[in-house]
Amino acid sequence: MNSFDESKKLLTRASKVLAGGVSSEFRKYNHPHALFYKEAKGSQITDVDGNTYLDFTLSQGPLILGHSHPRVLQAVNSYSEEGQLYAGQHIQEIELAEKIVELIPSAELIRFCLDGSEAVQTAFRVARAKTGKNKFLRFEGHYHGWLDNVAWGISTPGIEALGSREDPACFAWSKGISPDSRAEFIVLPWNDLELLKATVEKHKDELAAIITEPVMCNNGCIAPKPGFLAGIRELCSQYGIAFILDEVITGFRLGLGGAQAYYNITPDLSIFAKAMGSGYPISAIVGKNEWMDCIANSEVIHAGTMNASNPTIAASLATIRVLEEEQPYERMFRLGQQLMQGIAASAEKHGQNLKVFGLGPMFVTLFTDLDTLTDYRDTLAADKAKLGKFIARLQDQGIRVIGRGLWYISAVHTEAEIEQAIEAVDQVLREF
Ligand code: PLP
Repeated sequence: MNSFDESKKLLTRASKVLAGGVSSEFRKYNHPHALFYKEAKGSQITDVDGNTYLDFTLSQGPLILGHSHPRVLQAVNSYSEEGQLYAGQHIQEIELAEKIVELIPSAELIRFCLDGSEAVQTAFRVARAKTGKNKFLRFEGHYHGWLDNVAWGISTPGIEALGSREDPACFAWSKGISPDSRAEFIVLPWNDLELLKATVEKHKDELAAIITEPVMCNNGCIAPKPGFLAGIRELCSQYGIAFILDEVITGFRLGLGGAQAYYNITPDLSIFAKAMGSGYPISAIVGKNEWMDCIANSEVIHAGTMNASNPTIAASLATIRVLEEEQPYERMFRLGQQLMQGIAASAEKHGQNLKVFGLGPMFVTLFTDLDTLTDYRDTLAADKAKLGKFIARLQDQGIRVIGRGLWYISAVHTEAEIEQAIEAVDQVLREF
């Protein structure tokens, strides 16, 4: 059993000055409480009690090249020595934008922001300006940030509380979220094209945008049904609605062209964050000229004092250059799938209903009797308490996984580490 005494002491101290002892809600969700870390390199992270973990959280996804990648650190350090934040233009900012235009199929014009949440809001603003309509349509269980109009529909008291598929109930994530923001969107279960068509036809005159994660990674790790994303594309083109693809997780994770290249789909606007910056605060809204020109000509305002600072742009450029040179994607898929298969085999051997869902570079482990997941409602059948215990036991075995059962593979995980993780899962399930 690991000791967490030092983390506990620091949490007590932190809680006097940091609300809840943390700087983001998600950091509370750890076993046995929020932990404090002192060092991280490659695929390993060490907490202040000296426990070292093989890290499959990758800091909630951004660290596609692992922790403290030397090329990223070197780029950040040397470009920061020239300046931190000009709040004016600089050359690497153009180079990064040119690189993204080259790699992302739907990218013609770009604006850099600080995180996924604000880039999503920028996309809504563009969609409203361009369509002259006001609402957006979103899906149950998808996460598009923590700001008011999207902090809904990601947690629920239970499946019955959701009500009908045609007119779902939708719950605010916390107190303090403006009830008025509920009027900004329509919500539906995901992956149901017939239902989507019927709803869009009914609301076409008020819909400015449809926003979706290409793979539903924030509840389960569920792939789109064949034809679902293409169906959204068609509906959006037909009714003059912006198709916003939220690639905050899938961008630079499923490949250099993101999920849009992987699924051969062309959104109007897309959002990139996490893996594009290796942990530095950078995100991007990208889109075709015909959508993004409203920002170019200042019809739509997008701003931000800290946008495109030297360290964030340098981190992103270095990350993408390493990904281009090393092309780790085939390997990340292979190692991820190897791990998924190893976990599934171990679960079967030990008679546990632990199931694995996902693509490889990211996947989820859930205790459920279902063999396939289609939407958020399916994920609610999973046993959360059992998952919590499993994740805690894995942590005791030196394996760090995101609390909702999400695993990320990086370009630096090795075959031996995948075997180590499978062995740890087997050890946990043997004693479960
Ligand atoms: N969109 C998706 C799909 C996400 O997973 C997240 C964060 O996890 C966000 C948007 C919000 O991004 P950020 O946390 O950078 O604000």
